Amino acid sequence: MKTIIGNWKLNKTPLEAKNDIKTIFDYSSEKKINSSVFIAPPHPYLGYLSDIYPQYSSQILSQNSQEFLKGAYTGHISPKMLHDMKVKGSLVGHSECRYMNTDEGISHTLSSLEEESLLCVLCIGESLEEKKSNQGLKKLTHQIKTNISHTPLKGKLMIAYEPIWAIGTGLTASLEEIQNTLEHISKVLSEKSLNVPLIYGGSVDENNISEICSLPKVDGVLVGGKSLDPQYFIKMIQKLL
Ligand code: PEP
Repeated sequence: MKTIIGNWKLNKTPLEAKNDIKTIFDYSSEKKINSSVFIAPPHPYLGYLSDIYPQYSSQILSQNSQEFLKGAYTGHISPKMLHDMKVKGSLVGHSECRYMNTDEGISHTLSSLEEESLLCVLCIGESLEEKKSNQGLKKLTHQIKTNISHTPLKGKLMIAYEPIWAIGTGLTASLEEIQNTLEHISKVLSEKSLNVPLIYGGSVDENNISEICSLPKVDGVLVGGKSLDPQYFIKMIQKLL
């Protein structure tokens, strides 16, 4: 079974979020594939959506989280709050959020999420400059080693390989690049005795989702722009049936 995560970023009114999440999860539960479909709505809607759709709260993710459980951290969101709102977990380290988090901080966030029994989808990826100068794999190794240094990780981790140059650009890593990179990530993880699901993100759409998900190392996809229209996103889910 594959995983598909829709990242809504800073989009949708409360009413759109309420209607669209229902459309998507009603469809996926009818087709009995609900355990693999997740949506990450904007932070202000998390508790509301989880309250009105308790049957779907385990499919709702936060787009980011910080390591602190409480305290004087204006504007932050804690793993404890996510736990109390009964959502499933959080994306962590998305390239659009990394300006707020150090590698060390991300590592502590993973520990805090784990303490709250939440799923962590750790996003890693190289920039175009790093890719062009053949530093991509080195960057990924560094991110894995620094971001997963403080936690025993008892099974609630997923890693999303998201090349920064592919996010929202319409450019996708080639199938060979995805496969080779995920093999590299698996190898680095195995040095830490970790075997976790690996997903790909970066301009995934209804035309490329099937072939990306048919790669042996790919356990699923993280979808940004193309998750916003619920009917389009459902078409993508159908490709995974
Ligand atoms: C993302 O933001 O995680 C992402 C993959 O975006 P997009 O699908 O729009 O490239």
